[in-house]
Amino acid sequence: MDLGLRGKTAVITGASVGIGLAIAEGLAAEGTDLVLAARGGERLEAEAAHIAEKHGVSATAVVADVATAAGTEAIIAAAAEKGGADILINNAGTGSNETVMEAPDEKWQAYWDLHVMAAVRLARGIAPQMKRRGGGVILHNASICAVQPLWYEPIYNVSKSALMMFSKTLSTELIPDNIRVNCVNAGLILTPDWIKTAKQLTAETGGNWEGYLQSVANEHAASKRFGTPEELANVFVFLSSERASYCIGSTYFVDGGMLKTI
Ligand code: NDP
Repeated sequence: MDLGLRGKTAVITGASVGIGLAIAEGLAAEGTDLVLAARGGERLEAEAAHIAEKHGVSATAVVADVATAAGTEAIIAAAAEKGGADILINNAGTGSNETVMEAPDEKWQAYWDLHVMAAVRLARGIAPQMKRRGGGVILHNASICAVQPLWYEPIYNVSKSALMMFSKTLSTELIPDNIRVNCVNAGLILTPDWIKTAKQLTAETGGNWEGYLQSVANEHAASKRFGTPEELANVFVFLSSERASYCIGSTYFVDGGMLKTI
């Protein structure tokens, strides 16, 4: 299936590792030029150079913290320098671990800035570029936790839920400009961060980190396995394409059967 993505330009946040990197690879394989953002420059620049060479696309690395206005401005400017973006993937984010009773205001604010304000600011800056180019696609990487919480991470649950509602609300505002906005809620996706956590948690009890990850999958996912970043990236790539032209204002679950409701 030709997805028609050759020659488009995509902005991807959190693109140096894990899911964001897999989406970058997936879009580059379709011939899409990239603007890739993360805070850590060394890893990001190495991945951008690798992707550009492997797929024959241009890949610009922007070292930026998306939780700040200055960071999102740098990303918007980099996209403008390429003539504007057609696709925006709001992917940067991270889990949390706290109780509502103990977490300070500052922690709530930091996750609000990372998961919600980054998407707000990037939409304000990049949607006008898309409009000038005749339309575009904005995708939000929320989480199954937006609707089915894990109790150890209330701030993550709440801020991802807000991102999902932001996505829905934005979709109605932007569809008159031919900009399709959607949200993706993933379940368990095996990124390096999960492996690092599993190794830490099992270090003092024999180091069976793979067994630990299997127990997490057994407990949560009907499929009894983690998904790969590539399995999730495939859905982002499809939703980025004209083949998904009637997908507007929805949330798509990619969770190996983890969602317990209909
Ligand atoms: P990783 O921790 O593997 O990667 C996160 C990426 O985001 C890195 O490139 C990181 O680079 C970047 N990043 C983090 N904070 C910022 C910031 N403030 N500004 C700019 N870049 C930032 O995460 P995953 O790939 O596992 O997750 C990606 C997204 O998918 C997240 O939003 C997560 O909530 C969501 N998700 C993940 C699931 C999973 O099971 N893995 C399941 C459901 C949703 P750097 O640190 O250098 O900035």
